[in-house]
Amino acid sequence: MNILSFQLFNEGAKIILDDILLSIQYKSIPKPVLIAGVNNESINAVVKTTAKNLLCNKQICDYLSKCNVCSQIESESYPDFYIIDNDLGNNIKSEEIQESIIAKSYTTSTNNNGKVFAILNAHTMTSQAMNNLLKLFEEPFSGNVYILGTNNINRIPKTILSRCEIFTIPSLSYENFIDICTKKFKIDDLNFVNEIWFFTRGEILLSESMLNDPDKFEEYKSEIKNFFNFISCPIYKKIELSDYYLDVFKNDFSKFLYVSEITKYIIRDLILYRNTNHSDNNLLTFYAKTLADKDDSKCLDIIKTLDEVSNYYYKNVNRTLVIDNLIYSL
Ligand SMILES: [Zn+2]
Repeated sequence: MNILSFQLFNEGAKIILDDILLSIQYKSIPKPVLIAGVNNESINAVVKTTAKNLLCNKQICDYLSKCNVCSQIESESYPDFYIIDNDLGNNIKSEEIQESIIAKSYTTSTNNNGKVFAILNAHTMTSQAMNNLLKLFEEPFSGNVYILGTNNINRIPKTILSRCEIFTIPSLSYENFIDICTKKFKIDDLNFVNEIWFFTRGEILLSESMLNDPDKFEEYKSEIKNFFNFISCPIYKKIELSDYYLDVFKNDFSKFLYVSEITKYIIRDLILYRNTNHSDNNLLTFYAKTLADKDDSKCLDIIKTLDEVSNYYYKNVNRTLVIDNLIYSL
């Protein structure tokens, strides 16, 4: 990561990090923390940055110079930092919570500041796992910090939520994003900055990675374009493309989620554009043309269909059926 990306992350995440640390530090038994967001990479980064802030005593650590503790937290090998980072296909089972979280909660730490336990994709815990965790939260043990991360807070039971301090990763507003890019980073290509905003909607780590990785940006842009072509194409063509989307849905769900989220934003822009006949954004033209024969109510149906697809994913509905359903309802 270069200085530019560090700054953007810092700008966007500074406030939430300060709040998280304030809720934990100087308390003998802090409440567990739940970090909610859209993008898994962002959640992961905030979780690890929090752990580094709690366990590292050096003032000098940042992306450019890291102490041993910070590098080991990053590589998930620090002895007082325990993380469950399942890939989304698998549920987190109660045995895992028992072994990696509960059993280790009662051991002593080598770090004077205690131990940090993190569970990413916390919504994928089985109900047995959630119950075990809840029991631990009900009988807290000093010196331990628990951090949960999720991009689907609706799937976390209220019993757990009520025990946690909840933080949401902010997205930068359009004005804020443009301001940071032009004034702080001195990027004078306003079209470029506008384009990044259009395809990331200010999500901090997503826009950061697009700013720094032109190839990834091109790839994501063409994914969105292709998806609009998919929406507007005749059914036989959709069937031809179904294998592709089934594959993304099964094996790269965060990309699928990205495409679906940004598509919804663009369609909302489109409806607004048609009704006010005004847009200062020429990026919209391609999408307006592609969906020219879908009226507003059809457009709203598409948004609803895309919402349902993500819900099906978390409910573990048969994936081929979900994609078939997508094809016939778009
Ligand atoms: Zn450090």
